[in-house]
Amino acid sequence: MLENLAAQPADALLALIKLYNADPRADKIDLGVGVYRTAEGATPVFKAIKAAEQKLLADQDSKAYLGPEGDMGFVHALIPYVFGQDFDRSRVEGMQSPGGTGAVRLAIEVAKRSGIKRILMGTPSWPNHAQIVAAVGLELVTFKHTTADGLADLDALQAALAAAQPGDAVLLHGCCHNPTGVDYTEAQWDAIAATLSDGKVLPIIDLAYQGLGDGMEADAYGLRKVLGAVSEALVAYSCDKNFGLYRDRVGAFYAVTSDATALANAMANGATVARASWSMPPDHGAAAVRLILSDAELTKLWLGELDEMRDRMAWVRERLAAAQQVGSVNMAPLGIQKGLFSMLPLSGEQILALREKHGIYMAGSGRINAAGLTTGNIDKFIAALGDVAG
Ligand code: PMP
Repeated sequence: MLENLAAQPADALLALIKLYNADPRADKIDLGVGVYRTAEGATPVFKAIKAAEQKLLADQDSKAYLGPEGDMGFVHALIPYVFGQDFDRSRVEGMQSPGGTGAVRLAIEVAKRSGIKRILMGTPSWPNHAQIVAAVGLELVTFKHTTADGLADLDALQAALAAAQPGDAVLLHGCCHNPTGVDYTEAQWDAIAATLSDGKVLPIIDLAYQGLGDGMEADAYGLRKVLGAVSEALVAYSCDKNFGLYRDRVGAFYAVTSDATALANAMANGATVARASWSMPPDHGAAAVRLILSDAELTKLWLGELDEMRDRMAWVRERLAAAQQVGSVNMAPLGIQKGLFSMLPLSGEQILALREKHGIYMAGSGRINAAGLTTGNIDKFIAALGDVAG
């Protein structure tokens, strides 16, 4: 039987990691993998997480099953940060998921179970979005995410929404767009919320990088604006970047409705999907987040660490933007883009030359993780870019 299986394409980013690891050059630069890095190139455990883990070690008295919805203390502790202090709590409920990936999966599955047939989505997007939509068996309808000038293409989104049919949902990145770094401006979010207010299209908002753009509150602007304008929406959330918990797989899926029965059914359907998929999410990372958010000192420590990450990203982006024009690449937009990622308009040959000649590794799409740049290597990167794109 198993001989019938078709070969699968290798994951390009994982293949890139292998190549990077095998490269003996001491000054090689990894701009591929999507994790935050310090100025020393490390991805350390947050101090706040370490402190919460100490508490867990000392105080956790059972590892008995929790249930498909996971740690509800964690799920509820996040609500004020995501939805705002004043959000009407009766409109929202959630459940824990294995990372933001699990949350996106739950959102798309629940959308399908509610009768959604098509997902509208700006491209390029995080590649797993399209894979999840396909795995769930929904149709993907794409539109352009960015304009030729590297701004968010509001007209393309508005045209897609105008052409949408009842039974469509739209998948939007809440902040720090992956892979472009190009977010909708506040004025654009206002316009998007106004369009979505007619309820024709169900908004699904993926917030995987809250706090890495302009701050926890500012990065929730679009999500909160949309939720203020519509009666129903789904949200996929990840704590893997803003708490540095990547491999612990910490996320949450939320439904927002103004109908209590619909809300309960959204959760019941999410729990059914979870039960048949992973049964229950991993506990450890979510428990650590709950402990942080329920302790004022630890919350302060965590927010301070998030500020440091954001300040470093701002420094990298300022330095890149200050280079203005490097060969054929206009660097100015990198200064206003948000989060870890940006796309450089490079050809396949140029990306290959950066790797082979200069030991600089980035995705074949031209996506860079700007967190891979440090005081020690940013000048080399800019010079190498000038060399290949000159
Ligand atoms: N959504 C987006 C836009 C992402 O970029 C990612 C992760 N790279 C995720 C969701 C999923 O994150 P997680 O690692 O928590 O599964």
